[in-house]
Amino acid sequence: MEFGFTQEQNMLRESVRRFMSKECTREYTRECSDNDRFPIELYDKMVAQGWMGIPFPEHLGGSGLGPVELAIFLEEAGYGWYGAGTSYFSTVILGGYNIMLYGSDEQKAHFIPRVIRGECKFAFALSEPNVGSDAAAVELFAAQDGDHFVLNGTKMFITNAHVADYIVTVTRTQRQPARKQQGITIFLVDAKSPGLEIRPLKQMGRSATHANELSFRDVRVPAANMMGRLDEGWNNLTKGLGVERLSVAMMYAGTSQAIVDYAVRYAKERRQFGQPISKFQAIQHKLADMQMKADISRLLGYRVAWMLAEGIPCFREMSIAKLHASESLFAIANDGVQVMGGYGVMKEYEMEQFFRDSRIGMIGAGSSEIQRSIIAKQMGL
Ligand SMILES: Cc1cc2nc3c(=O)[nH]c(=O)nc-3n(C[C@H](O)[C@H](O)[C@H](O)COP(=O)(O)OP(=O)(O)OC[C@H]3O[C@@H](n4cnc5c(N)ncnc54)[C@H](O)[C@@H]3O)c2cc1C
Repeated sequence: MEFGFTQEQNMLRESVRRFMSKECTREYTRECSDNDRFPIELYDKMVAQGWMGIPFPEHLGGSGLGPVELAIFLEEAGYGWYGAGTSYFSTVILGGYNIMLYGSDEQKAHFIPRVIRGECKFAFALSEPNVGSDAAAVELFAAQDGDHFVLNGTKMFITNAHVADYIVTVTRTQRQPARKQQGITIFLVDAKSPGLEIRPLKQMGRSATHANELSFRDVRVPAANMMGRLDEGWNNLTKGLGVERLSVAMMYAGTSQAIVDYAVRYAKERRQFGQPISKFQAIQHKLADMQMKADISRLLGYRVAWMLAEGIPCFREMSIAKLHASESLFAIANDGVQVMGGYGVMKEYEMEQFFRDSRIGMIGAGSSEIQRSIIAKQMGL
């Protein structure tokens, strides 16, 4: 079994690491987070590096790379700053990658080159005020009216919708289907459509790429903007899950390592009882446990990347990777605060920000409870 990376993959990692350490300075990331401001300058620079094209085929202007390269990129983006990974994720994965999986040829030819050139940003709208974990219960209704559909309803917690050009919107197109998974249709909605109102939400962490509430009042969407087939959206939604869970797991694995490195640096410098606190076994063991968790997140993520690249079904493995990476990220940040004592909760230090940013991972993209239920089901329980 091969655990190594190719020379090209190592070069990709090094260039992303170098870029992130130069661009994601404490001053910049803090200014964006404190002001709930999307990191547009960073985003544009990532575009200029050509990284938006990583998962797309060459005939659409992409780099034609695979899940392992995507995992490397997102791990390093997460190591740099959550804002790098999350801004990339909404557009490239939730937008572009979903279009590539089940959009029409016209949609692929139109949107994917624009994603790669940084001309089109996306958000993905599934959750609603009454629809969270039970995602198939989607209520926002799309009624057909000639060659348009008219959308009415509300979407909740939609990341980066305030900066998106298009919103991948999951709608209900049958009032009373036999099963709730039937009668779901996905549309590409122009974020500037009349009748669509986007209200920013305030959240405890990851505020530079915050969520929004979307209100649809008679929003008219051309039928040509339908992604996939009428009423068959649910099956398409599940197609992107592997790459989605891999992406968030790798971002969290990267951030986990960043927190460990930060805590280790601090522990070596902070002196109590006449010596660095890193000399105390209690602190060493905490740091060792943090490193072990970060390593496991990384390995579980690369297992999924490898399985996806080989075309091996990995429904259970992708939930394990997401679950472990998100819970470990928070546990590592929590221990990181403890290692730093009082300074760990002071806003002057990054650890406080790591702690707040890390809490969301166990809720978004399928909560820990839902991931455990998926794993249990895959175990035949
Ligand atoms: C910051 C942020 C960004 C987000 N971005 C997006 C986005 O871009 N697009 C989007 O569509 N959504 C987004 N979401 C929504 C996210 O996917 C939901 O929050 C998540 O699916 C959980 O839904 P809920 O919050 O309504 O909680 P609920 O579903 O109401 O769950 C509440 C609690 O009950 C538990 N629970 C629910 N059902 C079960 C069950 N069957 N068994 C055991 N426990 C259960 C949950 O795990 C949770 O602990 C975002 C959320 C956040 C917080």
